Amino acid sequence: MAVVSVPLTLPPTGLAPAVASPACLNLLDLDLKGCEQLVMELGHKPFHGRNLFKWVHKHGVTDFGAMTDLSLKLRYQLQAVAEIRPLHLVEDWPSADGTRKWVLELADGQRVETVYIPVLIPQERRHTLCVSSQVGCALDCAFCATARQGFNRNLTPGEIVGQVWHASRWLGEAPSNIVMMGMGEPLANFDNLVKALAIMQDDLAYMVAKQRLTVSTSGIVPNIYRLAEVSDVSLAVSLHAPNDPLRDELVPINRKYPLEVLIPACRAYIGDNLRRRVTWEYVMLDGVNDSPTHAKQLIRLLEGTRSKVNLIPFNPFPGSDFRTSSLERIEAFRDRLIRSGIFTTTRKTRGDEIAAACGQLVGRVRDRARRAPIATLWPPPAVDLAQ
Ligand code: SAH
Repeated sequence: MAVVSVPLTLPPTGLAPAVASPACLNLLDLDLKGCEQLVMELGHKPFHGRNLFKWVHKHGVTDFGAMTDLSLKLRYQLQAVAEIRPLHLVEDWPSADGTRKWVLELADGQRVETVYIPVLIPQERRHTLCVSSQVGCALDCAFCATARQGFNRNLTPGEIVGQVWHASRWLGEAPSNIVMMGMGEPLANFDNLVKALAIMQDDLAYMVAKQRLTVSTSGIVPNIYRLAEVSDVSLAVSLHAPNDPLRDELVPINRKYPLEVLIPACRAYIGDNLRRRVTWEYVMLDGVNDSPTHAKQLIRLLEGTRSKVNLIPFNPFPGSDFRTSSLERIEAFRDRLIRSGIFTTTRKTRGDEIAAACGQLVGRVRDRARRAPIATLWPPPAVDLAQ
C-alpha cells in the first residue's frame, strides 16, 4: 500500500513535537495491548491503538504524519511522547546463495546480527529469518562463535521485533518463517521474548503462523514449562549429545538441567497434540558425537518423543578446535536414525562465506565477559553502506 506522508508542522494541540531520543518510548516495544493502552491514556478510544499498531508493524511507517486514519490531535500527542525507532543497518552482507546477513546497531551502540535465508525452490516465495535475542550469549557452548564474544545484555522486545521490522521493509512482506536461532539464548530473555513472539504472530502485525515460528533453546528447563503456558510456537532444542557426560562438555547448561529433566520438559511442551514434535538440533563434530554408538544412544534417548532431528554440519570459526564430520559420517548417522523411524534432515550450510551460518554470528558485543579473541581479519570486509 502506498503511504502518503503528511508533514506535521503546526501542532493544533499546542504540543511541541518530541525530539527523538533514546529515552523516548519506542512504539516497537509495544504489543497490541500496549498500543491500545497508550492511546487510551492519551484520551482516545482503544481501537485507534489497533490502527497505530498496524501502522508501526504492517505498514512500517516511522513518521506519525503518515498515519492518516488517526486524528491529527492523536498524532501530535503521540509525537510528543513516542517515536518509532528502528534498528540502524550498519552492514549488509549479501551471499552468493541469496542468504544475507545484516548487522544492526542498537541505540547504545551494541550490534546484533540477523540472517535472511531464502528458500531455494523456484516459484516459491518463502524465506526464513534468523533472529537474535541477546547481545552475545552467556551460555558458553564449546562449539559456538557467539559464546566467545561473552554476554552483554538482553534485547528489548522492540529490538527483537526490530529485526523482523527491518526484514519486512527490505522484503516488502513479512518473513514466512522466523527462527529464534541468532545470537543469544531466547529463553534466558523470557519476558521480552514472549512479548516479541506475540507481536510476530499478531494478525495486525507480521502474522507468522505458530508452526513457522520456532524458538531454539539450549535447554533452560523451567522456561520451557513457562513457555508452554503462554505460547504455542514451535520448539527446537540444541541437543548435540546423546548422553550427559558429553553434553556437559558441549552444552554446559546441561550440568544444571541434565537430559533426565530436559527430555520430559520437551515432551510436556508438545503435549498430546499429535501434530506437534520437538526439533532436535545436533551439530556434527568429527570424532566427538558422530559415531554409531552416539546414534544408538540418541535413538534410545528420543524413544517415545515425537521428534525431528536436524543434523547441522559444524561451521568452523577462527580459534575453534572442532572439525565437521565427513559427509559419509553424517549420512551414516542420518541413515541410522531414519532406519529407526526418526524423521531426520541434514541442514544445508547457508551463508558460511559471509559468516552467517549457525554459530558464526558475533555482532559487536561491548564485552562484559569476553572469553577469547576472534581474529580481527575475519570475517572479510562487508559492503560499506556509506559508499
Ligand atoms: N541459544 C539457542 C539459540 C541459538 S540457535 C540455542 O542454543 O538453541 C543456534 C544453533 O546453531 C544452535 O543449535 C547452536 O547449537 C548451533 N550452533 C552453534 N555453533 C555452531 C557451529 N559452529 N556450527 C553449527 N551449528 C552451531
